Amino acid sequence: MTPQELRVIVIGAGPVGLAAAAQLLARGAEPLVLEAGPAVAHNIRQWGHVGMFTPWRFCVDRAAAALLATRGWKHPPPDDVPTGADLIAQYLEPLAKALAPYIEFHARVIAVTRKGFDKVRSAGREELPFVVRVQGPDGVRRFEARAVIDASGTWTAPNPMGADGLPAIGEEAAADRIASGIPDVLGTERTRYAGKTTAVVGSGHSALNALIELAALRLEATATRIVWLMRKERVEAAFGGETADALPERGALGSQARALVESGAVEVLTPFRISEIVRVENRLRIEGEHGDRSASIIADEIVVATGFRPDLSMLREIRLALDPWLESAGTIGPLIDPNLHSCGTVRPHGAKELAHPEAGFFIAGMKSYGRAPTFLLATGHEQVRSIAAALTGDVEAAGRVELELPETGVCNSRPATRDVAVAACCTTETPQGACCAPKPDLAADAACCGTTAPVVEIASATASCCIPRSHELAE
Ligand SMILES: Cc1cc2nc3c(=O)[nH]c(=O)nc-3n(C[C@H](O)[C@H](O)[C@H](O)COP(=O)(O)OP(=O)(O)OC[C@H]3O[C@@H](n4cnc5c(N)ncnc54)[C@H](O)[C@@H]3O)c2cc1C
Repeated sequence: MTPQELRVIVIGAGPVGLAAAAQLLARGAEPLVLEAGPAVAHNIRQWGHVGMFTPWRFCVDRAAAALLATRGWKHPPPDDVPTGADLIAQYLEPLAKALAPYIEFHARVIAVTRKGFDKVRSAGREELPFVVRVQGPDGVRRFEARAVIDASGTWTAPNPMGADGLPAIGEEAAADRIASGIPDVLGTERTRYAGKTTAVVGSGHSALNALIELAALRLEATATRIVWLMRKERVEAAFGGETADALPERGALGSQARALVESGAVEVLTPFRISEIVRVENRLRIEGEHGDRSASIIADEIVVATGFRPDLSMLREIRLALDPWLESAGTIGPLIDPNLHSCGTVRPHGAKELAHPEAGFFIAGMKSYGRAPTFLLATGHEQVRSIAAALTGDVEAAGRVELELPETGVCNSRPATRDVAVAACCTTETPQGACCAPKPDLAADAACCGTTAPVVEIASATASCCIPRSHELAE
């Protein structure tokens, strides 16, 4: 086979990897999805008990829906909101059946490279196929591909609880008492948390979910104590948009957390910067700085919900262009930088913005956002639609924007830490409620707000915004 006749390898059978496969098939290209786990959506299965915050209509990829429709599948009610388990049972498992000839399970990708070339060699590089090395039950195998889409997510690389980005001293040694994400405290993990003191670390939606579930457990096991630790200066900043959030389920998380704090069901210690975990008899002492003094609290269990970061180890031989601090793909860092804005909405982007110096290689889905916390499935579906178009030579479709994102008009502009006039744009009044804020070192990207949009002081709460209608305009 010539390199061009080879398959496109998709890493990960999560929602975005499967959508990529459906998009490629719809365009006549042959995908091969390599999935580390024994079944589809291995990562979502870890949080299947959690309610999602986007309704069905923002959870289903269009090419996937078209493929499923040929097999008699019915789209779930668009405005109902699924749990992670619903998403798997009602959408991803049927989709995996439809894509069965194109998926291999128990296939963990351990490295990606160019055939016969290391990262340094340039001449003729783009003509060579990719080689994808896979660890499976029968040992290591290698697959060749004409292009690779890495949609392996970030779930398996959670951020540590140490305030400085490193694991707190003693954190790894106490791993048996530390859970990451949103443990199923009302189900399988009930005995571990009932009647115990649990410290929840973090201030994002996962932390809010964990607090709400622990508080429900506390109603039944009244000795349960919940302490919430976060780096934020004020707990109010963690409640988000509440009723102003255009995704009501997500807004409700903040409102419920606020009620729990105000009622005293959840005790808050903020700002708290964790430095060390010490085992004290059968408990854990969490040490850190509370404001400008040292402080510690004792807990039985710790739930760390401090976000995720991409595992880039398998991409060591691939020429990547990553945002310096977010480690997000291509050039999308300025659009999603939480230093500058907190909108859940992002300017539509596709193959062009996600491109790396390694031609034919893309990172898509949750992993494309690197450490930024605001990824939505709808964004991932648009990413892989555009990538599939680019890989099949449809330049026009690759550049077109077909994304209808939910409005998430809860952007809090933050004081700029950089000495530039940042055009931070967030509003619910724009057609798509998009938000953009360029980084100073990418000043040209200020055009993401268009020439007609007012440039606003970063400290103002909201500002009018503009949304480029195509990738060309975005340039
Ligand atoms: C608790 C929670 C709630 C969320 N709720 C919403 C919501 O309501 N709406 C929304 O739009 N988004 C939501 N998100 C964000 C996002 O849409 C999800 O995280 C989504 O699962 C991302 O899909 P993905 O396909 O990019 O990655 P994942 O779902 O993480 O899938 C990655 C897949 O790759 C596999 N894999 C990993 N490494 C390898 C490897 N080396 N080789 C082979 N396979 C590998 C994994 O096993 C997994 O199956 C939520 C996220 C979380 C954590």
